[in-house]
Amino acid sequence: MNLLAWYDLFLFLLLFALFVYMFATVRITNLRKAYFLFHFFMMLWPLCQFATDIIKDPEMQLFYVTLSFVSLSLLGSGWLLLTIFLTGYSGRLGRRSRILLVLPAVIAAAGVMVNPFQLFVRPLEGGYMHRAYGPWFWLMIAILLSYFFASLSLLLRTVRNSKTLLAIRKQVKITLWGIFVLATFACSDLILNVVLRKWLPIIPGLTSVGIFISALFFGYVIKRYNMFDLVSIAHEDMINTIPYGILVLDENESVIEVNTALQRFMDLSLGDYFDLESFLDSVRVEGSSREFLEHYRHKDNTSAELEIIFERETVRHFILQAVPILDANRLQIGRILTFQDVSQERYLVQELNRQNEILQERNHSLDSIRNELYIANQRLKEMALTDSLTDCYNRHYLTQHLTHEVAANMQMGTPFSLILFDIDFFKSINDRYGHIIGDEVLYRTAQTVKQSIRSTDILARYGGEEFMIYLPDTDRKLAEVLAEEVRLLVESNHIRVGQNPEPVAITISMGILSVDDFTGANEPAEDQLEDYLMGLLAEVDKALYKAKEKGRNRIEIADFQPVYWG
Ligand code: GH3
Ligand code: MG
Ligand code: MG
Repeated sequence: MNLLAWYDLFLFLLLFALFVYMFATVRITNLRKAYFLFHFFMMLWPLCQFATDIIKDPEMQLFYVTLSFVSLSLLGSGWLLLTIFLTGYSGRLGRRSRILLVLPAVIAAAGVMVNPFQLFVRPLEGGYMHRAYGPWFWLMIAILLSYFFASLSLLLRTVRNSKTLLAIRKQVKITLWGIFVLATFACSDLILNVVLRKWLPIIPGLTSVGIFISALFFGYVIKRYNMFDLVSIAHEDMINTIPYGILVLDENESVIEVNTALQRFMDLSLGDYFDLESFLDSVRVEGSSREFLEHYRHKDNTSAELEIIFERETVRHFILQAVPILDANRLQIGRILTFQDVSQERYLVQELNRQNEILQERNHSLDSIRNELYIANQRLKEMALTDSLTDCYNRHYLTQHLTHEVAANMQMGTPFSLILFDIDFFKSINDRYGHIIGDEVLYRTAQTVKQSIRSTDILARYGGEEFMIYLPDTDRKLAEVLAEEVRLLVESNHIRVGQNPEPVAITISMGILSVDDFTGANEPAEDQLEDYLMGLLAEVDKALYKAKEKGRNRIEIADFQPVYWG
């Protein structure tokens, strides 16, 4: 047995060890999945080489040869995929493009497996240890080389692109070295062991060595520069922890990405077609969905917004925002739809409005309570100031008012007068008609007097059927005129009460006191004021008494001497 065959086994074991090491030490991401697939195909090659060398049975040899070339065919596509992930182009690759990308490799592998009319390989010397390759072999090599060059051009483009990040450029450069080593060894193998096999002895394990060394380069890149992995892990973590629903669509409205927050509300998976129109029909919207759709379809480069309301077990409000994804030439290549849950805000606003309404209602009733209180207060005040029977001011109010007025008048030297009147023979009215009618006569007399006096004059009930009128800014002369008017009015006022056919006629007797001469008079001090007022009242009472004495229904003037205060 060829001892050198063990060399292939040895390389396989090294590759396997590297595979196990990588598998055990890195986190499995899309990039690493591509790497492991690639590595697996690489590993198969030396193993199959070894198996072909040690097995004598031509059928089994054919099996291993087939297996090694199937893996070699697929290696090309694995290679390109890995490059795509390494250079960061994976984001732009849809599911369909990925399938298209591996299709030539799969066709090449299928041809290798079927080996129709020995178009791929033919045995020499009765076995496959020495073999001749047919046109399918060269087709497979051509496909492999296409992958190789596609991958190479992608890597070179990335290295040359000035926008490429330094870390990515470094990892791409190392990958390029790996590819260079692999290509050098594989081409040497092809030239020495296939093209020149008639003239040169077979040198085994060339491709295997190339595979192993390049695997070291690739492994190093994967371990050392995990930039895209970090980005994709962070990206995945981020969009799945974000509370917004996120949906990324390509230009054909197919789902490229959907995060967990959105999947809670919508049954969507990658690759599904998302029909925005029928989706909007299935929910309640706040605003115009037609306008949103118009915007969505025609104003391709600006974002559109709409509030939607899901009514499932609970009612949830979302702000749906559609943002276009633009390429470098500002052409739209897809869309990001975000669903921001604003239920809490809407609930709070509703609650706030409700509370506001309640507050307004309460305010309203407080207002009316305040009004009622104000009215009641006013009434209480009035009741404290007025006499309930005659609706005039009461004596308490009068004396309060006079205290202020008299002091002010004295200070300013303003004249004023007081009239005290008493109904004549009122007892006989009571006796004749009864108290109730007596009351009515009292009330009507007071109303009559009230109407005849000036608006600045104050009429107050002073006692039983005695009244006082305070006349501000009125000297004796004017007071006499006004008193006479009142007296005449009462005298001519025939009061009809109850069922009585004859009206009740009354007269009044009046006393007048005027303070209109201030010559030599000093202003009374505060503690003297009350006495002074009492003096005035006594004087006017005396005048009234005199009027009664002199025959009633008449006016008497108080003989008043101004007091000199020391
Ligand atoms: P004179 O001309 O001397 O004043 O005779 P007079 O009958 O009016 O006598 P006097 O003023 O002393 O009597 C007052 C009477 O007025 C006594 C009382 O019966 C009556 N009177 C006092 N207050 C009221 C009242 O509020 N209602 C009624 N109906 N009568 C009252
Ligand atoms: Mg009287
Ligand atoms: Mg009286």
